[in-house]
Amino acid sequence: MALAIPFHNTYAHLPDRLFARLPPTPVAAPRLLQLNLPLAEALGLDPQALASADGVAALAGNLVPPGADPIAQAYAGHQFGHFNPKLGDGRAILLGEVIGRDGQPRDLQLKGSGPTPWSRGGDGRAGIGPVLREYLISEAMHALGIPTTRSLAAVATGEEIFREVPVWGAVLTRVASSHLRVGTFQYFAARRDVEALRTLTDYALARHYPGAEGAAGLLAGVVARQAELVARWMLVGFIHGVMNTDNCAISGETIDYGPCAFMDAYDPETVFSSIDHAGRYRYGHQPSIVQWNLARLAEALLPLLSEDEDQAVALAQEILAGFAPRFHAAWRAGLGRKLGLATAQDGDEALAQGLLQAMYEAKADFTLGFHHLAAAAEGDAAALRDQFLGTAALDAWLPRWQARLAAEPTTPEARRAVMRHANPAVIPRNHLVEEALAAAAEHDDLAPFEALLAVLRQPFTPPEDLRYAQPAMGGMPGYQTFCGT
Ligand code: AMP
Ligand code: MG
Repeated sequence: MALAIPFHNTYAHLPDRLFARLPPTPVAAPRLLQLNLPLAEALGLDPQALASADGVAALAGNLVPPGADPIAQAYAGHQFGHFNPKLGDGRAILLGEVIGRDGQPRDLQLKGSGPTPWSRGGDGRAGIGPVLREYLISEAMHALGIPTTRSLAAVATGEEIFREVPVWGAVLTRVASSHLRVGTFQYFAARRDVEALRTLTDYALARHYPGAEGAAGLLAGVVARQAELVARWMLVGFIHGVMNTDNCAISGETIDYGPCAFMDAYDPETVFSSIDHAGRYRYGHQPSIVQWNLARLAEALLPLLSEDEDQAVALAQEILAGFAPRFHAAWRAGLGRKLGLATAQDGDEALAQGLLQAMYEAKADFTLGFHHLAAAAEGDAAALRDQFLGTAALDAWLPRWQARLAAEPTTPEARRAVMRHANPAVIPRNHLVEEALAAAAEHDDLAPFEALLAVLRQPFTPPEDLRYAQPAMGGMPGYQTFCGT
């Protein structure tokens, strides 16, 4: 079947100062590395057409598919706390939107598709390793039920690019509810372009918050979704790694998988990113950083919140104050599910903190420390004890939890079902991710990547090969991730 993608181009029809209109830059020798069949299906796209010569050419940026109106979007952003008024898509091109089978529009964006007016000296490209990393982790997050952008395809370009060393280039097709960011609003706020802010607000409301009204409605919506999102991250031990305001999506999806990684041993100070020297984006700091980012969105929206500046600030503060209770409620409820509690009682948060403290003291694995609670709830605590080897911390905690469980009205079956989905058996383990990416990038061998992806698509099912469920032997002291630009 010929490639036919029914594009809508609503963003490209907005005023042209919101973007630059340009096509992707063709590459030497496109070759399909990975195509996401379930996602193609969900988007109503024909996988065979996408895998055809024309399809791969389109996914590589060598052919602009009929109906696409390619643009690079303008945005600004606070990077590690410092404002940069001009970032924008420096290596990405939005082809347009497609309406999924669920009736929702989604952006199709090529990432690594060549320079744009926002490349700032960068080459506009991406390496195979980082592209496959984003593919893998975003799909893992989706399978965990966490709102996220997704990955439709990865195409090798057949061109070498230079990072510290030469690496092979690739293009990722990213699928997102939209690519609107906190930084998109900041870009126009910095230019005092209130008209553009109004346009963006109306657009974001229509696309993401159809029941809400005005800048206050938008801000409240984003506050709520981001509070829920970061709670979800915390509950699976996900560390985003580069929570700059340009990487904070208005839709409430996780976006921009650069130096992200999952924590093994529980430690709130965990930080992996090689450039995050001060630990600004460490695991335990993520909720505060989201709140900080939302305050930047509120600032950008001030001119729309009220004509009276004092009133605008008061309204912004009132809405932002909703973040902490919202985050806490989501976090507490999630911990309750992880502990197998169907009801909420006053001491529950302290009970959960008690387990986290025991994990910290024992350097227990965060994922397995929770995963093995399910068996412990049914009287078999052996696997759980293994995670807390040689420490008394768990012994003091277990009877407290068991007493609390005894006061629960639920059946063991109901509890099992809740715990199963709250406590995944597998997360993307750092050493396995690195192994899979190295095989693909250095030896052109995608088998480890595909095997890992298959396991990550069923995160609540203990894998046949238990290697996928375990952290690296001896841990990964000093493990570092890179932005991959
Ligand atoms: P990121 O760290 O991916 O969020 O990117 C931050 C900014 O740098 C964005 O404006 C990107 O478009 C830009 N950027 C990152 N890598 C490149 C690259 N290789 N070439 C051009 N721009 C880039
Ligand atoms: Mg970014």
